[in-house]
Amino acid sequence: MLSVRDLHVHFKVRGEGFFPEKRVLKAVNGVSFDLYPGETLGIVGESGCGKSTLARALLNLIPATAGQVVWLGRDMSGASSADWQAVRKNVQMVFQDPLASLNPRMNVLQIIGEPLRTHRPELPASEVLARVKAMLVRVGLNEAQLYRYPHEFSGGQCQRIGIARALILEPKLIVCDEPVSALDVSIQAQIINLLKDLQKQLNLALVFIAHDLAVVKHVSQRILVMYLGRVMELADKHELYADPKHPYTRALLSAVPIPDPKLERGKQIQMLSGELPSPLRPPTGCVFRTRCPHAFERCAAEVPALEAVNERSQAACWLYR
Ligand code: SF4
Repeated sequence: MLSVRDLHVHFKVRGEGFFPEKRVLKAVNGVSFDLYPGETLGIVGESGCGKSTLARALLNLIPATAGQVVWLGRDMSGASSADWQAVRKNVQMVFQDPLASLNPRMNVLQIIGEPLRTHRPELPASEVLARVKAMLVRVGLNEAQLYRYPHEFSGGQCQRIGIARALILEPKLIVCDEPVSALDVSIQAQIINLLKDLQKQLNLALVFIAHDLAVVKHVSQRILVMYLGRVMELADKHELYADPKHPYTRALLSAVPIPDPKLERGKQIQMLSGELPSPLRPPTGCVFRTRCPHAFERCAAEVPALEAVNERSQAACWLYR
């Protein structure tokens, strides 16, 4: 479905002072993975680890600096905007802030119908109306809301409209960039269950980005863990939660609360020491080494590649070499 090889997204940043030197912020630094039809790949990591930049680079909303993105067998390196337009019929995005992602001057019919008017201009207005009505019902809204504007809806309803807009072209893949992090917990569950139901009905593949490990566990089959623009671990969900390989994944998982007071009290939390380093000055070698309790000499000298630890997981860590 999607094959990403050694993807880099770098930004030139102005320094400070009278004679500022130009610096490079490596937001995504050599990310590789594959995604299969009908699969959900969860992407997790702290704020600033490059998850959202990666999502946007997959769709060329931010141009990649280097690397290869292959959509449905087609290498998109150097593709024109017309080529990307053709790909976007099959690949859509759901954004983090549901209200901000909808145009406040457009009503629900115009918002959900817009992809059809862009990609299927041959469809008559009656057909667009019929498809938008059917999609509204599918995402749990109703026809009476067709001519309302975004400010008349709750956050959860706005996200349902965003999902309807993403689905109206019947895409093969949806990139969800933290689709529930701006919503209340009860609404989060509704939206996640809606996405899972639609995925089953339409055989959709999902890239699901979040910083909440419990949410990612609920929706994903495989999980990719990012830190400072690099992949630390990529593993089957059950393997990752039962036996995390990378020290960073272990620390992240130990901080997830257990909904049982007895187990929670007896749990050993592996605290991460220190602050997240600046992406403008990442540590040499393994980027996690300044906070890793197992760091040794080689970690500062060489970058560990993401390699298989067993058939269900890969980790970028010298402990496994
Ligand atoms: S490579 Fe070294 S510093 Fe990095 S996670 Fe492994 S042990 Fe820790």
